[in-house]
Amino acid sequence: MGTPLDSREAQAVEVLDRLYEEYPDTDISLNFSTKLELLVAVVLSAQCTDERVNDICEDLFETYRSPEDYAAASEEELADDIYGITFHNNKAGYLKGIGEILVDEHDGEVPDTMSELTDLPGVGRKTANVVLQHAHDVTEGIVVDTHVQRISRRLGLTEEERPEAIEEDLMDVVPEDDWRMFTHLFISHGRATCTARSPDCADCVLADICPSERGDSSADLASGAEW
Ligand code: SF4
Repeated sequence: MGTPLDSREAQAVEVLDRLYEEYPDTDISLNFSTKLELLVAVVLSAQCTDERVNDICEDLFETYRSPEDYAAASEEELADDIYGITFHNNKAGYLKGIGEILVDEHDGEVPDTMSELTDLPGVGRKTANVVLQHAHDVTEGIVVDTHVQRISRRLGLTEEERPEAIEEDLMDVVPEDDWRMFTHLFISHGRATCTARSPDCADCVLADICPSERGDSSADLASGAEW
């Protein structure tokens, strides 16, 4: 078991320093070349892997180039075109609805405010945060995905469980300039080392400051369960 720094602020800064060093080139792993493509890719990525989304989107983006294209397609056609994505039927409905709203209410543009984005079907705060950060260069919050949720709790940065509450806790202790990279660093660490089922604590750069470190800690603070 590692010993966390005295304050959550200091713990956050130390964790960031080490992860910047460990993953200097980390960034979003979805492929896109327009704001619309990003929005579509992020909506499709909910509970689906980025690899699968990138794979499906290669053809999808050839066929659907504008909001009008999504609005004009039937849900059945769209569902066929995104077959292989988790919950493809629901997400087909979201894409059609997004196309319609962008055409009807936003002159075919992807909006740049949290409230307008979260009014779109299938777009919650997490998706909106990603779109704001990567399409509009606006950082309003911290994207809390499953890796951020798990590792923040393991490291003692939050005791909250809901993503919205975790985000509020993190925004209090993570320097604002790091909000965007915080997510990418945690995703990289979650994929490479601090995996959900069997984190490689013996080879982790955060082991000495992590209260969940498996060496002699009995509990995974992400779940509260014993290792
Ligand atoms: S891999 Fe282990 S030591 Fe590293 S952050 Fe995860 S739980 Fe802590």
